[in-house]
Amino acid sequence: MDIDMEHRFLFLLFLFFSFVLKESASKCPYRTDAEVLIFGAGTAGVTAARVLNDHGLNSFKVLEAHDKIGGRIRNITFKGFQIEVGANWIHEAPGNTGSRSDNDNPIWTLARDNQYRCDVDLEGVDVLISGGFTESSIFMDFNNQAQQYETFNTSEIEMDYIAKYKEALKTNGTNTVRQGLNMNNWRPDSPLKQLIEWSEFDFTYAATPNESVVSLTAENDNVNFGERCFIVTDQRGFASVLRCMIANFGDHQDKILTNTNVTSIELYSECVCAEVMGQGRMCGDYGIVTFSIGVLQNWIANNKFKGTSLSPAKIRAITNSRMGLYLKIFVKFPNVFWNISASYTYATNSTKRGYYPVLQPIGASLPGSPPIVLMSVTGDEAMRISHLSKGEVRQEVVAVLRQWYNIENESLLTITNDDIEYHDWSTDEFFLGMFSNNPTTLTIDDKRNLAMPEGRLYFSGEANSIEHGGTIHGAYCSGMDAATEILKRAQGEILHKNYSSYMV
Ligand SMILES: Cc1cc2nc3c(=O)[nH]c(=O)nc-3n(C[C@H](O)[C@H](O)[C@H](O)COP(=O)(O)OP(=O)(O)OC[C@H]3O[C@@H](n4cnc5c(N)ncnc54)[C@H](O)[C@@H]3O)c2cc1C
Repeated sequence: MDIDMEHRFLFLLFLFFSFVLKESASKCPYRTDAEVLIFGAGTAGVTAARVLNDHGLNSFKVLEAHDKIGGRIRNITFKGFQIEVGANWIHEAPGNTGSRSDNDNPIWTLARDNQYRCDVDLEGVDVLISGGFTESSIFMDFNNQAQQYETFNTSEIEMDYIAKYKEALKTNGTNTVRQGLNMNNWRPDSPLKQLIEWSEFDFTYAATPNESVVSLTAENDNVNFGERCFIVTDQRGFASVLRCMIANFGDHQDKILTNTNVTSIELYSECVCAEVMGQGRMCGDYGIVTFSIGVLQNWIANNKFKGTSLSPAKIRAITNSRMGLYLKIFVKFPNVFWNISASYTYATNSTKRGYYPVLQPIGASLPGSPPIVLMSVTGDEAMRISHLSKGEVRQEVVAVLRQWYNIENESLLTITNDDIEYHDWSTDEFFLGMFSNNPTTLTIDDKRNLAMPEGRLYFSGEANSIEHGGTIHGAYCSGMDAATEILKRAQGEILHKNYSSYMV
């Protein structure tokens, strides 16, 4: 055999073995446990389960690592009171919630309308929005002459920002939101202007205008700020909307498996299997993975998708995405010293944009509840603070509030580390960040590819929603889409299988 022939022979041999290996890897080598395996019981997973169930596809299992359903909707007990360490607001945005309804955020409907007959009717506080800003907000700035913080009327700056921001999203030839703002002559050259910008932009996207791509931000801009928001204070927890969705499943114990940590997913041409910690392998005809972008990025880096590999477009879409950082710090003080009639109190910092910029009274909205405030931080500040000890966070918060409210009576500010609570989603292995946003690395094609199925594995979750990414209603719509796609596809196969019939 000459060298050329030998090369050709080796090449054909290589092709033959690649084909054999690929074929044997893609057929389903195992018995299936359910028609659909849903990975994750956050909003997207629970919604997908509900949709399958409602259409008569009852053979599914939801595999959830945590001991409860809810995902990034989670309440914990703090000082005898339930606080929401994840999502808290229903961004109602009437008439502005995109394709599904002209009127309401679907989560609002779930929370209020008792759609699934389990009396959920969540308690909470309405916050009215006017011209883009919450009506009951106050903005404080440091008055150098008086040497103290004072409330300022910021409506002119607010209107100016909103008008220029709207133009920025329409300005062609720009990459970042910052460039768009610059081109429309928005100059955040004072601490007050920086604060207004933070309250409108960073507080929503958990990123700065400099870090956000204008095109996707424009698509995603109806996340917030309709005419009303609703802050959930219900002591049963916000996640009761999701519990309600599955309450009348019948044998839901069998279908929703909590404490079930999925450690890898295998893709075959005829099924999707998963390795479950301590339980071995489970397989379904289809899979829906609802893990956050942070988790998917981690899975790609650690080769946890096995069998037929994910397409380059999917890998690019996931790795080009980003999870924003948004830290909610709850602090209990001995007494109320803040303004409880304002839903939000914003205050400037002369040296650092985004340094503890906002306070929300939490407990005070319920009679008999302890005096708790919520201080929220985003982006680099959230990252910095999550690396501090609780004692250091306590010292920073106390110093900030002492200055804001000019407090001389130290007993008002005397708290211990136990009086502070926050959940760092960015280091929690089942989330690795708070919610997705629109980094400059991400394109509209990437966004579309995020939601594309890979064979029999469907992808769902808040990040897959172009219009409502980063929200609960985005996750809900995405769960609905994935389940509907599977129902349509499975309908084509139903003649060959012995499942109950269902209609889409
Ligand atoms: C601090 C914070 C504040 C927010 N505020 C708001 C708000 O006010 N309003 C709003 O609309 N949205 C808000 N959001 C966003 C909202 O919470 C999310 O968009 C939404 O809950 C995401 O739902 P999901 O189903 O896509 O993902 P998730 O809720 O992340 O669900 C995925 C599930 O997969 C599970 N999982 C992950 N890995 C594994 C594994 N290996 N094995 C098994 N299970 C696994 C997770 O435990 C989780 O339950 C907030 C988020 C955060 C973090």
